[in-house]
Amino acid sequence: MKTATQTLGFPEMDELYSANHIASVVDRLAQEISLDLSNANPILVGVLNGSVPFLADLMRKLQFPLEIAYLAISSYHGNKSTGQVTMLRDLESTVSDRHVVLVEDIVDTGTTATYLVDHLSKQNPASLKFCSLISKQRQRKTEVHLDYVGFELLEGYVVGYGLDFQHQYRNMPSISVLKDGGI
Ligand code: 5GP
Repeated sequence: MKTATQTLGFPEMDELYSANHIASVVDRLAQEISLDLSNANPILVGVLNGSVPFLADLMRKLQFPLEIAYLAISSYHGNKSTGQVTMLRDLESTVSDRHVVLVEDIVDTGTTATYLVDHLSKQNPASLKFCSLISKQRQRKTEVHLDYVGFELLEGYVVGYGLDFQHQYRNMPSISVLKDGGI
């Protein structure tokens, strides 16, 4: 019998990280961030749209004063990186002299992460740390230092828990890998 997504013509996928597994990894990341920044009143900068569920879960595990801000960039069309990053929406105020944690859903080639680090570094933050739920180290074209990494993914295009394929699947509580890369 066909699944609902197959009936609608959506690509097939296999679950990679369950909701429970993700929750335990978010717990671990929160502990790491707490060790570094619990007395720093940091600003967590979420990168829209993909980081929304991750940031929502992460911030509620951090039991110390902090602020939340968002910016929006675009670097992907379908399941291919364009290599071109566009700022769709910048932060509303400067992060000068503040401790900043950039919160991303996934770092693939590193192009977007490098752009974001360059962009925020120009504002002279007190410190700048990078937290990514998923890292695809093998795909890097630009080296970027990640301070907090949830999962290391060797290959595949993943969806769910904020990650999309053609604007779909962000609402799935688990993370799945598309079969055949969604082709
Ligand atoms: P990079 O600039 O590192 O190549 O790409 C970063 C952005 O590409 C991420 O913020 C995310 O939007 C998108 N991306 C990269 N790999 C994946 C993937 O496996 N699944 C999804 N849904 N998006 C991805």
